Parts: sequence; structure tokens; C-alpha cells
Amino acid sequence: TELSKIRNFSIIAHIDHGKSTLADRLIQRTGGLSEREMSSQVLDNMDIEKERGITIKAQTVRLDYTAKDGQAYILNLMDTPGHVDFAYEVSRSLAACEGALLVVDAAQGVEAQTLANVYQSIEHDHEIVPVINKIDLPAAEPDKVKAEIEDIIGLPADDAVLASAKSGIGIDEILEAIVHKIPPPKGDRDAPLKAMLVDSWYDPYLGVVILIRVIDGVIKKGQSIKFMQAGTQHLVDRVGAFRPKIETLPELGPGEVGFITAQIKEIAQTRVGDTITDVKRPAAEALAGFKEVQPVVFCGLFPVDAADFEKLRESISKLRLNDASFSFEMESSAALGFGFRCGFLGLLHLEIIQERLTREYDLDLITTAPSVVYRLHLRHTKDEAAKTIELHNPADMPDPNRIESIEEPWIEATIYVPDEYLGPILKLCQDRRGIQKNLTYVAGRAQLTYELPLNEVVFDFYDRLKSISRGYASFDYHQIGHREGDLVKMNILVNAEAVDALSMIVHRSQAEARGRHMCERLKDLIPRHLFKIPIQAAIGGKVIARETIAALRKDVTAKCYGGDATRKRKLLEKQKEGKKRMREYGSVSIPQEAFIAALRMG
Ligand code: GDP
Ligand code: MG
Repeated sequence: TELSKIRNFSIIAHIDHGKSTLADRLIQRTGGLSEREMSSQVLDNMDIEKERGITIKAQTVRLDYTAKDGQAYILNLMDTPGHVDFAYEVSRSLAACEGALLVVDAAQGVEAQTLANVYQSIEHDHEIVPVINKIDLPAAEPDKVKAEIEDIIGLPADDAVLASAKSGIGIDEILEAIVHKIPPPKGDRDAPLKAMLVDSWYDPYLGVVILIRVIDGVIKKGQSIKFMQAGTQHLVDRVGAFRPKIETLPELGPGEVGFITAQIKEIAQTRVGDTITDVKRPAAEALAGFKEVQPVVFCGLFPVDAADFEKLRESISKLRLNDASFSFEMESSAALGFGFRCGFLGLLHLEIIQERLTREYDLDLITTAPSVVYRLHLRHTKDEAAKTIELHNPADMPDPNRIESIEEPWIEATIYVPDEYLGPILKLCQDRRGIQKNLTYVAGRAQLTYELPLNEVVFDFYDRLKSISRGYASFDYHQIGHREGDLVKMNILVNAEAVDALSMIVHRSQAEARGRHMCERLKDLIPRHLFKIPIQAAIGGKVIARETIAALRKDVTAKCYGGDATRKRKLLEKQKEGKKRMREYGSVSIPQEAFIAALRMG
């Protein structure tokens, strides 16, 4: 295809502002699918994505559009993941485009994620076309939103398209704006092949499918290609595009977006951002900006029923086939038995994997407290030199005497919130050791910038933010590096024994409050035994909080002494059944629910 007839664009928006609905409309209008095939949203194809209304994996569609100038164009719509956890994937999808539609809800206005995404888009030198969506709503205020786009983002919004993706208003104007405002791609057909690996996923029929954007040269079936970062070689066996149905093509040339398959078994071999070139005539250098994504939040996943361990292993391995960004390794815990230590890109990512394991693989799981990655500087000993290690699991914390200092990851958070909720939000950030960097007001709303330790955010920050603001606050963050902190490992002791699954790393200033909270919770959650059970929170040998579970006076069968034998047996059976769901800890039985509930903050 001629370069001048290609347009590559993405849609950027805050969650719920109408990105998927608009994408579907564009597909429908350009004839990619029949009315019947349009029945459900096309681009969000995983159940969880649909339910949560967010896009997790980037998808792409090739649209044929004959413009009002009579010319036929190919429009490649790259959908981008809608959540901060997947920021790197967003950035790669954006790198494959020359422009973006900025969709803003006419009733909600500019939100935190609108902003985060639009700045990324600007960094990629995109031509940005503002679209004010949902103008059919009675609460729509397009003029106010235009002013916001200009004041907050600094983009001219005079000729923003007024649209309703739902009722089909403004769709033609959007298509014309894509053709006339977004520039065509550049590229050289005769140069050696250079293509970017934008995304990859596992398909049961095709194997690993790789989404690419060709920069220079041509890619065809039968060609030997090389992944420049991974250093691996493959033979291309299929080239095509999604319309959104799969269509095989003879080749993909410069500026084009499409997919290839090359008999690759595992997506772990394909890295987003890698450069694909020709084996015989390779490009001189790889594309800039390749980055390996690293998990930032870790937690343990354990089967409730120890007999499910193998099933958990199989299920996790299957999920991993389609998500190279999460990691897992076996872990054993005295309290919870055998399970896996898993790493995720963020909390939402963690929740998605956990939910899929529960729902799609029918597993009952216990999740331990999420932990971030700490950097520990260790002193030298007489056998070992000083060194720096990464700590993913509080249970692996070395002897405190060995530790010179601990660093924790920090983030910069942007929060948008209507004025009336500002007070409690400031308090929340302050309580979480936040450092206020900026506070401005635009159109009745506050824009707040805070630096926060990631550790304080992974627990329940987002849920708290939403509940304090009745859902009106929006939030976005990015990491800003590690900083030293006064961090300690807090152990929870039940009947004088440390429960490994409950130990956590906390800031010293918060240890006492957290410890007390945890002890109080456990006191309510652990059933009484025939003896007194002390529950303690301790840092090293020092107890910082304590509760006691009083002893039971009588056993359950006492009241049917000398009476009905069947009743007595039944009670004992019931007891036995209940016990199966308990974890014996030393001589104390802790119900599974206690772990889960204790780890929840609030
Ligand atoms: P996304 O999260 O940005 O992909 O948003 P969706 O496309 O999933 O839309 C979120 C919600 O807004 C859905 O309930 C849509 O039906 C609704 N919606 C999308 N566009 C419009 C519109 O133009 N008008 C109205 N009234 N609702 C819309
Ligand atoms: Mg969506």
C-alpha cells in the first residue's frame, strides 16, 4: 500500500469515556463486520475486560475507508490498554502510530488517565484529534470540556469533534479528521526490514501471534527473520491483518500494521518493543527504547486445599502462556503449605490473574499481603563481601544486623478530585507518608500531585480514594525510583510462633498501628481453644502490640454428656469438617478466612 494512503492511530481516553464504543462504531461504519457480528464489543474480548470495562491487551484493526475526496485509505486503529499497570504496552502501541483520537466524556471532562495518556501521546509527536463524546447525555457540557482540554492539557480544542459513539453522531467527521489531520507514516521500502514488535499473544490455533508495525522494508511468508534484542531467528509462516477478522496478506510493507506467525511456541520468547529484521540483510541498528518489563508487586498464591497444588501449577503455567509480564516460582510456607510467589506489573494485574485463576480454573486461593520490591544494602561479613539484593518476599528478610540500609520504590501520583472531597484525600495521602508536590484548581476540581511510597499504595489506596470521593476521584501514577526508608519487618506471632504468611515490611512509624490492627483482627478471627492464645506483633524480639484469645471453658460435646450418642457423633463430624479448612499452627488452628481477612486493611 502507498504510504500516503495509510493512517495509523490510537484512541486515548480515561476509563469509561467511550473508547471501546467508538472503536466498534468505526469498525461498523467502515464495514468490517455485519450488524449481527457487532452484537458485543469487539475489541474487549476477554470476559474480565468486558466486566471491568477496561482493555488489558492491545488489539488492532485494519479499516478500509473511502474518504469524501474519493480516495481509498487504510486506517489502522491500535487499541491501547486502559490502565496504568500496562503503561509500557501503551507506550509501544503509541510508538506504532502517527496520531491519536483524544476521547473525553462530555459530562465528566478531563480525568487523571486522560492526562497521563495524552502526555505520552504528545511525547511520541502525535497529531492529536480531540473528540468530545457522549454529547447525547443531558449532562453534556461540550463547551466546558473544550475549555478544559485547552486549560488543562494545552491543546487547541476549537475544532474538537462533537460525537456520540452510542448514537452514532459525529462518526463521519471523526473518520475525515483521521484522514486529513493525522499524517501518513514514513518509511523506505527498499531499506532492510525493520519492524517493531508491538504485542504478542497465544492463540490455540495459530500459536504465538505477533503484532508488528513495519518501519522500513517488507515482510513476507517464507522469510527468515531475527529478533534483534532476543537474538533468536524464526521463519515467517503467515502474514496478515485483522479486519477485525483474520485476513492473510501477501506482505506487509513500510508504515503498515499487521500480524505474523512464525512457529513460535511461547510468548516468553517475544518481547514487546523488540526489533524484527531480516536474517540475510539485517538493519544496521535496532529501534530505540526497548525496555524489559519488570514485575513490581509480589505476593504468594496458595491453594486453600493442599491437594490442588498441581492444578494451581498447571493453571498458572497456562495463564503465563499469554502473559509474559507476570512471573512465578514455587514457594513454601509453614502456615499455608506449597504455593507460588508471583510477580505482577501492579495491583490490577494481580487482581486480574487471581480472578482468572479462581473463575476460569475454578481454584480456591489464599493470597498473601502484596509486597513491593525492596533494595537491601548488606554489610560485609567475615565470609562475604558487602552487596545489594532485591527482596520480593518479607519471609526472606536477612538478619537485621546484616542490613546497612533499605530502599523502597516511590511513585508520583496525580489525583483529580472535586473540591468538596479534597480535605479527606489530603489526609489519606498524608497518612500514607505522601509528600505534596503540587495543588492547583481547574473548573471546580483540584489537581493534586503527590510523591508516595509504592508500598503504601499497593494495599488499598485506590479503594480508599474511590470510597472517600464517592467514586469521583481519578488517579494515575508512575514510578520515580527507590529511596531509603526506615523500614522494618514485622512478625505476627500466634501462641509465640511467627506465622510466615502474615509477616510484612512496614515503615517504623506505622508499625505499631498496623501491628495493633492485625492483632485485633486475628483475635476476632481465630476461634477459641482450650488454652489461652497470645497474639503478638513484634519487630525482632520487641513486642509492639498484643491481644489474648481467652480459653474455652468446655468442649462442644460437653453439653450432651450421657445423652444422645448420634448427636455427639454428628457434632464431632462437623468439627472435623471445619478443621479441614483450618491451618494447624503449632497447636493452634487458624481458619483460612483469617489469613485473608487479616491481610485486608481498612
Ligand atoms: P471505555 O472504557 O473508554 O472503553 O468506555 P466504553 O466504550 O466501554 O463506554 C463506557 C460506557 O459509556 C458504556 O456503558 C457505554 O455504553 C457508554 N457510552 C459510550 N459512548 C457513549 C455515548 O456517546 N453516549 C452515551 N450516553 N453513552 C456512551
Ligand atoms: Mg474499553
